[in-house]
Amino acid sequence: MPEPSKLIARFSILLIMLAAMTFSCRSIAGQDSDQPCTHFLKSISSDKEQPLLDLYVQSFIAPKKAEQRLPAVERKIDPTYSSLRQAIFLLVKYNIEQAEGDNDIKAMSYIRELKQLGEKTGSKWMVAEAWLAEAAELVDKRNYELAESTVAVVVDLARELEYSSLLARALKWQGNIYIDRSEYKQGLQSYQNAYEIFLGCGDKLQIARVLSNISTVYIRMEEWDKADHYLSQALDIYHEQAFSNPFAEAILHINGSVITKYLNRPDERVAHIREAMKMAAKTSSYRVKLTALMNLSAMQQDHGMPQKAMESSIACLRLAETYNEPRGIANCNESLAESYLLLNQTDQALEHAFLALDTYEERNNRKRYIYVSNIIANIYEASGDFEQALKYYKQYAVQGKEYLFDVRRKELFDLQERFEAKEKEHEIVLLKTENALSSARLAEQEARENMLKVGTALILIVLYLLYRRYSSISRNNIALEQSNAELATQSMQDPLTRLNNRRYLERWLTTISSRPEQRAALVVLLDIDHFKSINDKLGHDVGDQVLILLAQRVKKASCSGDLSVRWGGEEFVLIINTPEHEADNILACLSSAIADTAFSTSAGDITVTVSMGAVFTASQQQLQSEWDAIMVVADKALYSVKAAGRNGYKRVNYPC
Ligand code: GH3
Ligand code: MG
Ligand code: MG
Repeated sequence: MPEPSKLIARFSILLIMLAAMTFSCRSIAGQDSDQPCTHFLKSISSDKEQPLLDLYVQSFIAPKKAEQRLPAVERKIDPTYSSLRQAIFLLVKYNIEQAEGDNDIKAMSYIRELKQLGEKTGSKWMVAEAWLAEAAELVDKRNYELAESTVAVVVDLARELEYSSLLARALKWQGNIYIDRSEYKQGLQSYQNAYEIFLGCGDKLQIARVLSNISTVYIRMEEWDKADHYLSQALDIYHEQAFSNPFAEAILHINGSVITKYLNRPDERVAHIREAMKMAAKTSSYRVKLTALMNLSAMQQDHGMPQKAMESSIACLRLAETYNEPRGIANCNESLAESYLLLNQTDQALEHAFLALDTYEERNNRKRYIYVSNIIANIYEASGDFEQALKYYKQYAVQGKEYLFDVRRKELFDLQERFEAKEKEHEIVLLKTENALSSARLAEQEARENMLKVGTALILIVLYLLYRRYSSISRNNIALEQSNAELATQSMQDPLTRLNNRRYLERWLTTISSRPEQRAALVVLLDIDHFKSINDKLGHDVGDQVLILLAQRVKKASCSGDLSVRWGGEEFVLIINTPEHEADNILACLSSAIADTAFSTSAGDITVTVSMGAVFTASQQQLQSEWDAIMVVADKALYSVKAAGRNGYKRVNYPC
């Protein structure tokens, strides 16, 4: 089992949520103005309002700076002048308040005001904006069902209003909800839709954020190369545009530190962590601070600095305790347990690991529960308690297996390819203007390589499936053949005497022609004399015993090449390989072998005699072609023995 992505996985979805938690329209007012992505911009044309619009844009790109400028703008542009101005001011304030992801009471109070304003003035876009913010808050409170239906209403309304920016943001939230439920396929589809709209609007900040979200999904799936690809793009856009949002930048670098860890690029990891810590210090979001600390601790653990790792984990725990947030406390406890384990302080390690385990169990966080079980197993192992170690390791292995082989991961493949294809289209269009030919060739080559990869993967999968199918079929076949063989044996054997039965003899006759040698054969039809009286006098059971014992004696008297068959009732057929001059001798021996020694049954010793009608043929081949006629002759011979007083034989040569 691969080592799980320890830290970011704890917070990955949180980071997606936080990163998406801002409004946006076009990035910089005035750019791409032919695309009316933000609904209310259409209604504002006067230059007087320009500072308010700039402030609005700034509240996304640099919320802290917007906060500083807000009082001055409010003095200059009277918010009470129109409901539109009021709404924009409310959105600005909301953006500033929740820019760091903590959807606090103050931020939501602006949203309530916005909603009331929208209802009062009949402005659908204001109500829709308020609903999306409410949906975001619902997601934060993990009320996904209500959040999902609210987002769906916003999506419809945004389409109706042709309010692209809102539509794209709503789609992004829809994606967040899907991803949190591990429905990656739909999640990425929603992100893709949002991405395309933002691309059309030229909204660089939101493009960067969607790319960051996509990267986070790949982190969850432990697809590090893809995660790296999308994160680098997001970071490039971020730096190009010189956005100033330490919160968002911290998240990007935290993600970067996790990705570079798994891609084994330690120097880059250190640089990411350093940036993440720097940015985290500039935000007031404790969640980002916690996540940065946990990742710092993880890096210190990996880089052989257990003492420092423990200090970082303790700082993490102290901070989480200040905010009294159970999830954060559990995450830091987990981090601390790992640090103590590295320091070989197993008692402390266990204490903190169990604190984390209990919280994850309470909160039904399956993934973390599994990971902590593994940590606990490792701690017990280090302390020499192998019994407990095994118990927790089993817990980890059983549940982890189910988790890791979650089928939903596999659903992703096709969507992934589609998204990349779309993304490439955009890239190609862009590059065409600069260097059409070479970039087209490049894209073509990449597509070919991708196709080759996908093709190879598909072939491998098909081969694997065929192999599995083949091995299961051949297993079934073996089982089937075995049971068929058993059935065949059963159907050709007489269950009482264990001699072959008439069906076997019929089959045997059909195989004679495949045996080339011309051999003579003596066919004997043997019938027990007065057998009915044995049944009548001593009972059917005793009759059965006589049949069994007689069969054994007949078999013993015959050679290995001979055939003994129970023909039916108390009649037997023997086919004996013998030259003609020996035939009578054999029949006499057989007769006396039966008659001279009594059979020992439960009713005492019983002496039995038999009558035999025998036919001698010079070639076995004749048996096959003229069996019925031979049996008629044998039957006649037998009858004549019976008529002559029984206990004897008569031999006839065939053809007569
Ligand atoms: P014969 O000397 O003329 O051959 O006299 P028989 O009594 O042997 O001949 P008959 O054909 O009248 O009787 C054969 C008896 O064998 C009748 C039947 O109940 C009995 N029998 C047939 N199959 C079985 C069996 O599997 N077990 C027992 N105990 N009896 C059987
Ligand atoms: Mg009979
Ligand atoms: Mg008989």
